[in-house]
Amino acid sequence: MRFTEIRTLLGECLRHAPGRTWLVLVLTPLGAITPGLTALGLQWLVDGVLSGARPLVIGGAVCAAAAGAFALAGTRVMQVQTDLLGSEAGPVLDRRIIRWCATLPTTAHLEDADSLRRIEQIRGLGQRTVTTGLASLFVVQSGIWLVITTILLAGVHPVLLALPLFAVPSILLTRTSSRRAETARAETAERNRAEQHLFTTITEANSAKELRLGASGAHAAAIARRLREERTAILWRATLAVGGLTLIGSLVFVAAFLGALFLTVQLALSGTVSPGALLLVATLGGQIRGQLDLLTHALTRSAYGLTLAGHYLWLRDLHAAGTGGTLAPPGRLRDGITLSGVDFSYGGPPVLRGIDLRLPAGATVALVGDHGSGKTTLVKLLCGFHLPTGGSVTVDGTSLTELDPAAWRERVTAAFQDFSRFPFLAREAVGVGDLPRMDDIGRAAEKGGAAQVFARLPEGERTRLGKALGDGVELSGGQWQKIALSRAFMRPRPLLAVLDEPTAALDAASEYEVYQRYAEAAQEWQRATGGITLLVSHRFATIRMADLIVVLDGGRIIECGTHAELIDLSGRYAHLYDLQASAYR
Ligand code: ADP
Repeated sequence: MRFTEIRTLLGECLRHAPGRTWLVLVLTPLGAITPGLTALGLQWLVDGVLSGARPLVIGGAVCAAAAGAFALAGTRVMQVQTDLLGSEAGPVLDRRIIRWCATLPTTAHLEDADSLRRIEQIRGLGQRTVTTGLASLFVVQSGIWLVITTILLAGVHPVLLALPLFAVPSILLTRTSSRRAETARAETAERNRAEQHLFTTITEANSAKELRLGASGAHAAAIARRLREERTAILWRATLAVGGLTLIGSLVFVAAFLGALFLTVQLALSGTVSPGALLLVATLGGQIRGQLDLLTHALTRSAYGLTLAGHYLWLRDLHAAGTGGTLAPPGRLRDGITLSGVDFSYGGPPVLRGIDLRLPAGATVALVGDHGSGKTTLVKLLCGFHLPTGGSVTVDGTSLTELDPAAWRERVTAAFQDFSRFPFLAREAVGVGDLPRMDDIGRAAEKGGAAQVFARLPEGERTRLGKALGDGVELSGGQWQKIALSRAFMRPRPLLAVLDEPTAALDAASEYEVYQRYAEAAQEWQRATGGITLLVSHRFATIRMADLIVVLDGGRIIECGTHAELIDLSGRYAHLYDLQASAYR
């Protein structure tokens, strides 16, 4: 039993629907004793009739009728009440899950398969988490009922004590099979996600275009089919295993029940027990079968629900743990940002190794290197999206982990190559770069080039973009990029401004124009706040303008200096520069 999970779920239910929760808590023990009372009532009734004892007949009839009626209705009422609790407390869990996911201090959970699996399993399932988690109460109910049944059977003959024991294999096998089903669900979650992703890729206009040009549509469809077949095979094997195990457990019990009935008949014939005892054993034995079904069902449901609740608590703890930082970032950078012995890995081999680097306040720094050399990863560490696995990043001497992550991010602005295409009104797609100043997009739209895009839209800046939220206008790659760049201009006084190849889809003239405008804005904030501008680019016309150029290779810094210094060094930078320059000669 996972008590923390049960306590958490009951706590939420008590907070949001106290009356209903108490009703369920009272019905739990009542539901446990009424089946036993029914069997006892029937025994009294039969013995009363046979011995002509009127009070026993009346008492037995009333007891059997009242308890029987409650046993029939009580379970149903409890089921309905737990479902209602799910619909009351579930949405609260859903809201928290979304908020926690959206405000986790780092984005590491979005790039880690295990975290994604957990989030996938609870996403939008708050209601199911509560209703299936509360199935634990049915498990408790059946447990109490089992104890009462054991005592009543022992009263007939001690050997009958063993009857409920024959339920144990069934319970154990059911638990094994529910774990097996859970493993199968977890195993298929990633394939499911990959298949959904492929489906989106196949049906989304942009990627569909590339798939057709590359004639790889059939290949993508074949991968999707393979994923589905693998998923079906895993679930099929699990279903067979679960069915087989459950059947074996049931057969063991049925054999024991028949033996118990035979023994009681012998005892009644020899006069050791009253004839009513036969009815008691038959009724209890018959209930064992039904109650056992309830118990196994409740065990499976609660195992699933408590696993979901476990994921919920994991996310809560992950969110609460944060990075621990509470300090406000400096209003103005005096020294700069320093990386000391920084290592990083996404869980596999190291991606950054022993990075020692000082980004001086007010400087423009360019990161250069082949694809996969670690440039974007370094940017993610500086933005605070990931924490280094070794070493430290300090801002004017204060570790980034000591700064309040949200406050740090308010002083960071970034435009990435894989920027988002927000399906909002055009002005909102720019304004979300700095929510509190959402209505003041004029300057940013001008500087990032969004103003030119607005001018060509049917309803100007009030035009809906993209197709995801309705019939919006689809923009070209370059137009989307201008929107993303303008978004990056929204923050007025950043301490760190990152341009991670956001101009890759622009032509050379537009890129030059963007960087010119960017350089102007950068000068403004570099003077005002000592802010650092970090450029990731492959175009040397842009790179050579930087005050400091850092060359990465295989996650290490291999060269670092000004353009002139690196050309003098005649190393990798000079070689790459020559290659690009000769292409223009
Ligand atoms: P660059 O920006 O220089 O192209 P990246 O920082 O994107 O390089 O990637 C550096 C290395 O880290 C590459 O080997 C890449 O495959 C790996 N990598 C990047 N993102 C992830 C991720 N989310 N999970 C695992 N590996 C990653």
